[in-house]
Amino acid sequence: MADQTRHICGISGGKDSSALALYLRDRVPQMEYFFCDTGAELPETYEFLTRLEVILGKPIARLNSERGFDHWFEVFRGALPSPQMRWCTKVMKIKPIEAWIGDEPAVSYVAIRADEANRKGYISTKPNIESRFPFVEDGVDHDGVMKILDDAGIGLPDYYEWRTRSGCYFCFYQRKAEWVGLAERHPELYERAIAIEQKVLLDAGVNGDADFSERAMAGRQYTWSGGETLVQLRTRRQEILDKHHASMERIHEARRSIPVLEALVGALDDDDDTSACVVCAL
Ligand code: SF4
Repeated sequence: MADQTRHICGISGGKDSSALALYLRDRVPQMEYFFCDTGAELPETYEFLTRLEVILGKPIARLNSERGFDHWFEVFRGALPSPQMRWCTKVMKIKPIEAWIGDEPAVSYVAIRADEANRKGYISTKPNIESRFPFVEDGVDHDGVMKILDDAGIGLPDYYEWRTRSGCYFCFYQRKAEWVGLAERHPELYERAIAIEQKVLLDAGVNGDADFSERAMAGRQYTWSGGETLVQLRTRRQEILDKHHASMERIHEARRSIPVLEALVGALDDDDDTSACVVCAL
């Protein structure tokens, strides 16, 4: 009887999982590719997935949560998702993946690189799912990932020009400079993120900066970005960009032997690894 085990590879729209999909295209011809669509992804991500499908020669299954962010936002009583309360990943990513896999035996290929072997990815606790880490097994590091993408002629998704990882446009893991990038590249999405935040502040009866800072310190998050609202963050645009460019300069000085874009992506990834949502951003 033929082996019924499914072979699956999740693509977040980030560089590592995209490179893994390309790396495995001919090695695991029966591979099923999937992408968890929260409905709040960046336009650049959708565009990149379309190009990737052409190179893979196969569709990437879009897995949706039964309901979108607005529904779950209500269920969680208007609480913003945050690193401490990451309900978004659970209900909009992990549950749809596990429902899609069901109870059939499956091998899940995870895009953790050889140079970040201590990083944790999505590892299901379901007994029918076995996780494999081909980049760790084969020693593929950051440079190896960039080479796979270059060789395939696809390069990096366009959002890497202003943001270092895939995921929702309102992702709370964004740096301040990335919020500025969102405001400039996608002002309508920035306005939507403001509207969600303003609703949270209004529902909580929070007035004024001091008030929300005190409450935030008490454990609940009232703003997408730490210590200020998105409206306030926007007014500090130049200060934020100046600081960001200064730190990029320092990183570039330290890595003068590496081309600029790789240095930028590599450096930012390096300091992201402890906090980023790896289910969303590999
Ligand atoms: S990308 Fe960010 S906001 Fe979206 S599901 Fe992942 S952690 Fe949550």
